[in-house]
Amino acid sequence: MKILVLNCGSSSLKYQIIDMSTKDVMCKGLCERIGIEGSKLTHKVPGKDDYVVEESMPDHTKAVRMVMDALTDAEHGVLKSVDEIDAIGHRVLHGGMKFNKSIVVTEEVKETIREYFDLGPLHNPANLMGIEAAEAAMPGKPNVAVFDTSFGMGMEPKAYTYAIPIEYLEKYSLRRYGFHGTSHDYVSHRAIEFAGLDPKTAKVIVCHLGNGASISASIGGVCVDTSMGLTPLEGLIMGTRSGDVDPAVVQYICTHEGKDVNEVLNMLNKKSGILGMSGGISSDFRDVEAAANEGNEKAEVALEAFRYRVAKYIGAYTAAMNGVDCICFTAGVGENDKHARKLICDEYLGYLGVKIDDARNDVRGQEAVISADDSKVKVLLLPTNEELKIAMDTQALVTK
Ligand code: AMP
Repeated sequence: MKILVLNCGSSSLKYQIIDMSTKDVMCKGLCERIGIEGSKLTHKVPGKDDYVVEESMPDHTKAVRMVMDALTDAEHGVLKSVDEIDAIGHRVLHGGMKFNKSIVVTEEVKETIREYFDLGPLHNPANLMGIEAAEAAMPGKPNVAVFDTSFGMGMEPKAYTYAIPIEYLEKYSLRRYGFHGTSHDYVSHRAIEFAGLDPKTAKVIVCHLGNGASISASIGGVCVDTSMGLTPLEGLIMGTRSGDVDPAVVQYICTHEGKDVNEVLNMLNKKSGILGMSGGISSDFRDVEAAANEGNEKAEVALEAFRYRVAKYIGAYTAAMNGVDCICFTAGVGENDKHARKLICDEYLGYLGVKIDDARNDVRGQEAVISADDSKVKVLLLPTNEELKIAMDTQALVTK
C-alpha cells in the first residue's frame, strides 16, 4: 500500500509517499510560498538530485496538482499514475473535544475541522484546504485526518482542566489539549516495543525537544499529561515560544508598552524562548550553544533555563504517574544534542537513579539506549517519525 502524507501550513505543503510494505519513503517534498509571489516545489527522491519547479501556486489546489505532476513525472517521479496512491493521510492540528483518534474524512468531519478554526486559526484552515485539494485531485481516494491533539485527549479532567471558571470549558471547550501528539504517540509506543516494556503498564516520558518543544507522560501508551495546553504556547521553553509564564506578564507589558493582548501573545509565540532570552541571538539551539561556548552569559542562561524546565517537567510527570520506567529524547535537539541529554539527566535526575552511559550517549538520530545497565530508569534516543505515524493510522483505517 502506498500512502501520500500531506502536512499543509498556511503557505506551505509538505508531502511524502510511504510504501507501507517496507515503510520506506519513496519521495518527499515541499511547496513553499503558496498564495505568495515566488512559489516553488522541491521534490526529493532518495539517490537522485532535487527536482525544483518554480511556478505560481495561488492556492493549495494548485499546489496539490503540482505535487501530482512531480510524483508522476517521467524523469523525477516515483509513480506511473496517481492511481497507485491508495490513500491520503493529513496532519490536522486541532481536533477539539470531538476527535480522540484519527478518522476517515467525511463531510461531517470536515465540518467539525471547520468548527475548530477558532482553536487552530493558523493551521486548521490550511489543513482543510489540503483535504479539499486532495479530494479534488484524487476523487474517490480515502482521506484520513490525523490530529495533533488526539494523544492529549487521553488526559483526565484533573490534567486537562484549567483552574478558571468552569463555564469557559463548558461554553468554549477551553481546556488543555496538548500538541505534537502524533510524535508523542509514535515515540511512546515505539519505546514500549524497543525497550521491551509491558504494553499495558509502561510509564513513559517523551521529551520532544525541537524548535517547538513539549513533553508527555503516558501509561500503557495512554496520555496522562502533556505540556502544551489550549495552544502550543504552554509548557517548555522553545525556540521562539516562552512556554509557561504568569498571565499577569501579559497585562503588565500591555500597560507599560501600550500594546494590545494580540501583540503580546505574538511576542510570546515568536520572539521569546531561547531567541528572546539570549537577547535575539537565534531561535536555533546550535547558534545559541555556539554563543554560550564563546562566553555569552545570556545564551548560557537561556540554555540552562531550557534544560531546567525540561527536568522540572520530568519530575512533575514522574509524580503524576507515581514512577517512570523510561525517558525518551526525540526531535531536533533531543536526537542530536548529546550535551543537552547528558546535562538534563546528570544535573537533575540522579535522585531517580538515572545514569547516562557516555559512550552510548555519543550517538545522533538513531534508536539507542543511552542509559547505563545499572540505571534505574531506561533512557532512550528514539527519532520521531510523524509522517510514518500518519501513514500507519491511515493504513489501519482504510484497510479495516
Ligand atoms: P526540530 O524542530 O525538531 O526540527 O528541531 C530543530 C532544532 O534542533 C533547531 O533549533 C536546531 O538547532 C536543533 N538541533 C539540530 N541539531 C542540533 C545539534 N547537533 N545540537 C543542538 N541542537 C541541534
